[in-house]
Amino acid sequence: MTKARDAIVVGLGASGGIIAAELAKSGVKVTALEKGPHYSQDYFREKHDEIRYYTRGALVPHLSHNPITWRERDGETAKILPWATGPLGTTEPLHLPPSIGTGGGTLHWGGAVWRHRKADFHMRTSLIERFGEAALPEGNSIVDWPFGYDDLEAYYDRVEWELGVSGQAGNINGELMPGGNPFEMPRKRGYPMPPLRSAAANSRFVEACRRLGLNPFPQAAAIASQDYKNLKGCTYCGFCHGYPCHVNAKQTSHVTSVPDGLASGNMEIIPFARVVSVNHRGGRAKGVTYIDALGRAQELEADIVVLATYSLENTRLLLVSGLNGNGQVGKHFMTHCFGWSTGVVPEFSNTFMGPLVGAHVVDDYTSELIPDNEDGVLWGSPITSFPGDTQPIEASHNTPPGMRKWGADYKKWFADSYRRIFSMHTQTSSLPYEGGYCDLDPNVTDPYGQPALRMTHEWKPHDIQSMAFFRRVKQNIAREMGIKEFWEEPSPPPYHLSTHEVGTHRMGLDPKESVVDPYGHSHECENLYVVGGGQFPTLPSYNPTMTIQALAFMTADRIAERV
Ligand SMILES: Cc1cc2nc3c(=O)[nH]c(=O)nc-3n(C[C@H](O)[C@H](O)[C@H](O)COP(=O)(O)OP(=O)(O)OC[C@H]3O[C@@H](n4cnc5c(N)ncnc54)[C@H](O)[C@@H]3O)c2cc1C
Ligand code: SF4
Repeated sequence: MTKARDAIVVGLGASGGIIAAELAKSGVKVTALEKGPHYSQDYFREKHDEIRYYTRGALVPHLSHNPITWRERDGETAKILPWATGPLGTTEPLHLPPSIGTGGGTLHWGGAVWRHRKADFHMRTSLIERFGEAALPEGNSIVDWPFGYDDLEAYYDRVEWELGVSGQAGNINGELMPGGNPFEMPRKRGYPMPPLRSAAANSRFVEACRRLGLNPFPQAAAIASQDYKNLKGCTYCGFCHGYPCHVNAKQTSHVTSVPDGLASGNMEIIPFARVVSVNHRGGRAKGVTYIDALGRAQELEADIVVLATYSLENTRLLLVSGLNGNGQVGKHFMTHCFGWSTGVVPEFSNTFMGPLVGAHVVDDYTSELIPDNEDGVLWGSPITSFPGDTQPIEASHNTPPGMRKWGADYKKWFADSYRRIFSMHTQTSSLPYEGGYCDLDPNVTDPYGQPALRMTHEWKPHDIQSMAFFRRVKQNIAREMGIKEFWEEPSPPPYHLSTHEVGTHRMGLDPKESVVDPYGHSHECENLYVVGGGQFPTLPSYNPTMTIQALAFMTADRIAERV
């Protein structure tokens, strides 16, 4: 047994990287346990390899070692994620949990960042006020968050300024800013860096949206448009979403927070340390057990334990550790329902260049801004332009429906169209339901003999109605852009992990109805914190990570006060 330290942080991804570093900087002695390798800042210099990162998913957890199973509903036998196991091992490698290793999901994320809207914190109240309680879908478990936008504003600001975000402000202290999002919630100041430049086809999207009376603005990005703190300016290499960044332009915790934590002298990292349980007695966590790089079980003790292993693994660890006193762990599973649409623009537009988020977005139909509609869509989505960052193998997976993936016709289509591909995207909120949850699979174990996490989730009418609503909006934009060939991924999507899984250790003030409090502090174990998207009571249609990071700063402050 190793000697006790002040705090153990398990997982060094988006949230764990921030918490470990902030605690270390405030004088707390931290040991960080990370299941994957510890990457140095120059580790990914030669990352331009589509087979390695896209096809084989080199950074994402492999299902043989980290099995997750899925079934549509109760009573069925769950299978290891069917959409992620194929002839090449991983036909959809990115519909898996995020990367492992220092950086976690921020190693290969797209870097789209959003502050939630005020209404996103009060979805239940907002829906009832507008549509009446009867409009809420049967079996839903929608609740308001235990705090609002104004409580988180200062933490959003910290994410933007301490870690680095590029963007164009839309609303500073209530004053609308030209070129920004006119629907933005008030912020105290702008972004620390100007927006990224966008790939060529984006201008068609912007002009078409303006002609249609919509309000496009540059996507805020966790990518440096110029050198900033630990980040270097983006080189627009195009191997971005799904890849680590070779120049450290992407905000990744192995580049941003973790080096600052290590520099404090108060933080150590144990890589290849797979935590398998939280050890606890009498409502207190003693520490954790992990399997080390040589396959040996090790125990570690500390006054504070923080689980930051992504919503799904956090949930599995709570369940295998017997920490589910009120039966709420694993409930309220939510993920985004992605609506990818692709078209071919008239001119060559360098599809392969730039980051995914070097683009404009439209917020006119997001969240409570969704217009009254006959489809029954309750909560809207932003519409995002993706004019670049599409490598050839990825593009070859996304051809018009019915097209054979071999032969002369296919070669001709690819030669003519690949460099003119343009995509649009929506991601509607899957609402929390009683029947959507995670538990331990009774049949499937990992190589260490522990049960796999089992997801039970089906797409609901609201998901399908939302896709139909936004398909028409995107088709309209595509027509206005002069796109002739336009197609969509199937509805509902064949996968049930969007990479935005949340809700399974919900936060709340009532210990009977929730797993943690707003700081991620466990109701059941007085020195345990469980952080990340698992805390979200509802899932707004925005990408979740900036809110996960803001919550992480909030948790770090709270723990530092306590130690
Ligand atoms: C391809 C892709 C693109 C994405 N793009 C975006 C985007 O553009 N915008 C956005 O907002 N979000 C995006 N996301 C989502 C984003 O990555 C996650 O929301 C975010 O990383 C979650 O943060 P986290 O701290 O909860 O977990 P993670 O960042 O996943 O970190 C968890 C860490 O815990 C470690 N770990 C796991 N299990 C154990 C264990 N048992 N013991 C020890 N360590 C463990 C992992 O190795 C990892 O380092 C994307 C995700 C993917 C997969
Ligand atoms: S496009 Fe920019 S941020 Fe993305 S990997 Fe390349 S250099 Fe890095």
